[in-house]
Amino acid sequence: MTQSAIANDPATRLADVNSEIAKACKISRRKPEDVTLIAVSKTHPAEEIAPLIAAGQRVFGENRVQEAQDKWPALREQASDIELHLVGQLQSNKADEAVALFDCIHSLDRPSLVKALAKAFDKAGRQVPCFVQVNIGDEEQKGGCAIANLPALLEAARDAGIPLAGLMCVPPFGIEPAPYFALMAKLADDHGLDGRSMGMSGDYPTAIMLGATHIRVGTALFGERG
Ligand SMILES: *Cc1c(COP(=O)(O)O)cnc(C)c1O
Repeated sequence: MTQSAIANDPATRLADVNSEIAKACKISRRKPEDVTLIAVSKTHPAEEIAPLIAAGQRVFGENRVQEAQDKWPALREQASDIELHLVGQLQSNKADEAVALFDCIHSLDRPSLVKALAKAFDKAGRQVPCFVQVNIGDEEQKGGCAIANLPALLEAARDAGIPLAGLMCVPPFGIEPAPYFALMAKLADDHGLDGRSMGMSGDYPTAIMLGATHIRVGTALFGERG
């Protein structure tokens, strides 16, 4: 979606995104309730997020532990059923804080983090579902587990008792994402995982048509990040 197509008020933007979701679901004969919209509010201040909560949005995503700690304790008071998802990279030494703050983690990408999270779950007496992030385009410098290492990482996560929600990916920037979404769906199928966290502002309808269960949308809801 281009910037000019984005409405000015948050409630209208949310309605627009939800209607795009409904359209993509209709085309692909899926149920809208099987697609979770994660409103990615990173870099946006609390006063821009509050109107979306007021408009009924309940699932939000942040990419940094510190920023989420600063913003969300107060925002959560607006509704009792808010879910906060971590969509950014997680350092092992922040695992305890992440487990205390987030309801879902989308960036499990290495064995050391499996260990850190298992320990943090034990300590907190609370388990948080995790998506394993896959470096779907095999890009250097990109977060996520290499496809070749995925079976071993999933086995390590299962052995450690991590509740696995599914797979997550961010396809290479600036090229047609559909083949990567299709590959993600195949990998998830191959490994018996239901969740597919894929699709952002520029490509979420395509992701839905290729099986996304969780879409992570920032710009289309909040406008450009400053
Ligand atoms: C920022 C971010 C998004 C949202 O991107 P938009 O293009 O603004 O919708 C989705 N996923 C991840 C991992 C992000 O960091």
